[in-house]
Amino acid sequence: VDPPPSVLHAFRAAAARAGSRTALAYFDGRLSYGETDALSDSVAGHLAARGTAPGDRVAIMLQNTPHFVIALLGAWKAGAVVVPLNPMYKSGEVAHVLADSGAAALICSDRAWETYLRDCAAGSPLRAVLTACELDLQTRGDTRVLGFAREAPAADADDLLAVARSGLPAPSLPEPAAGDTALISYTSGTSGTPKGAMNPHGALAYNAERQRTGHPVPDGACYYALAPLFHITGMVCQLAACFANAGTLALTYRFEAGVVLDAFAEHRPAYTVGPSTAFMALAAHPAVTPDHFASFQVISSGGAPLPPALVDGFRERFGPYIRNGYGLTECTAPCASVPPEHEAPVDPASGTLSVGVPGPDTIVRIVDERGDEVPLGEQGEIAVRGPQVVPGYWGMPEASAEAFPGGELRTGDIGFMDADGWLYVVDRKKDMINASGFKVWPREVEDVLYTHPAVREAAVVGVPDAYRGETVRAYVSLRPGAEVAPGELSAYCEQRLAAYKYPRDVSVLPELPKTTSGKILRRELRSQA
Ligand code: ATP
Repeated sequence: VDPPPSVLHAFRAAAARAGSRTALAYFDGRLSYGETDALSDSVAGHLAARGTAPGDRVAIMLQNTPHFVIALLGAWKAGAVVVPLNPMYKSGEVAHVLADSGAAALICSDRAWETYLRDCAAGSPLRAVLTACELDLQTRGDTRVLGFAREAPAADADDLLAVARSGLPAPSLPEPAAGDTALISYTSGTSGTPKGAMNPHGALAYNAERQRTGHPVPDGACYYALAPLFHITGMVCQLAACFANAGTLALTYRFEAGVVLDAFAEHRPAYTVGPSTAFMALAAHPAVTPDHFASFQVISSGGAPLPPALVDGFRERFGPYIRNGYGLTECTAPCASVPPEHEAPVDPASGTLSVGVPGPDTIVRIVDERGDEVPLGEQGEIAVRGPQVVPGYWGMPEASAEAFPGGELRTGDIGFMDADGWLYVVDRKKDMINASGFKVWPREVEDVLYTHPAVREAAVVGVPDAYRGETVRAYVSLRPGAEVAPGELSAYCEQRLAAYKYPRDVSVLPELPKTTSGKILRRELRSQA
């Protein structure tokens, strides 16, 4: 793997060799590499004129729109560190991230600015606010899908698109070096308070190049952004990999299964990456046909457990094989994936699908509490060292020292490796259920639930129990039209799992709670329980 020093280098190289090629496709709107380059130059010029200096933080809180990409490239061209913010964040979360990162500028939707961000930002040292109507760059104007109409530009903010079209030159700065911080990515908060992982430019460029060479598609092919761009998986595996390949990035605001299927039909993408829950939702949509997936050469799932039953069912119904991949914000998205010439094996004892093998230059060890390697095949904490691992968390020396002893990332995930080098993720260390002293990993129970034909989504948590200490409880949502009799799913698990593992109680919900990156929130179910 021989990456350029940054994704900005890769983007500029693509703009230089394929300037007229479409870089961004958004409903009926298209922007070429040359146009995207010029628009982001002006954003950089504006940010610099408003006092954004190299190393300053620029927060971007936008959906999957061209505006996000122009803002991102513009901020990098101004030498800034980008802080991507989840557009679903509420006031308290935004206020925390703006204050924690000390953001000098904020780029967000005009609707969010008007309704609550202006109040959240009061008192923070913002020198520039750019707002965007995320409809501007598409012509179909499908407000039903996008869910909001155009606001009048705010008096106390500049309009992102007007700024982008102003023709200002970018400041002349040295290109970012591989070791400079590109992003402060606040972890998705599945398990607690977000921490800001500092992803270097070189780590993003490395993982993008790994993705491009490890999951090759033709030069210039279409990448569909199924994962949100504010999340590291979307940023690296879609945006950065696409630019490294001078491809077209197709965007559709946010995940909505019917809109995604229409985009597949329209753009005929070759490549996409998403959380497993996105594939569950697509498979359950009434309009889905095998033709929707006919153009794909690579479909990857990452960031959340991938049930083997989903992979098999998906291939049977639609054709493509979903490739598993394992990563964390702290290793700038993937650190293990399934090589193109292989399929991931399933561990015969637990039924867990492998997440793949560690990438080149990446060392994965399975360690005990002291950090010593456990014997091959045994379970322990997954530890990762490699060019994609971040140096630490922003402003948190103690948490950094704990999570990265000697520069090695302790992932908090329990896993094991088989004799052929395939890595398996058992579960998150902190999600283990202790039922009468027996260890139960929610994943194993969920994988069994997913083999039941009525089950669409499943989550298993431990709930306090006077007799056992903790007991196993499951939550599921069902496929459209499916029904289950009371006790049916519990009995189904009882036939397939040891007595201490099967859930005595299975609740059916219309939908399971998820993060906006698509991960099922066991934490929320636990507190509900
Ligand atoms: P927080 O750190 O705030 O709890 P998070 O852990 O969800 O949030 P991410 O960096 O988005 O933050 O997610 C990484 C986690 O996702 C991994 O630690 C692992 O638990 C899980 N994960 C990622 N890929 C896979 C996979 N292929 N199979 C199983 N689990 C996965």
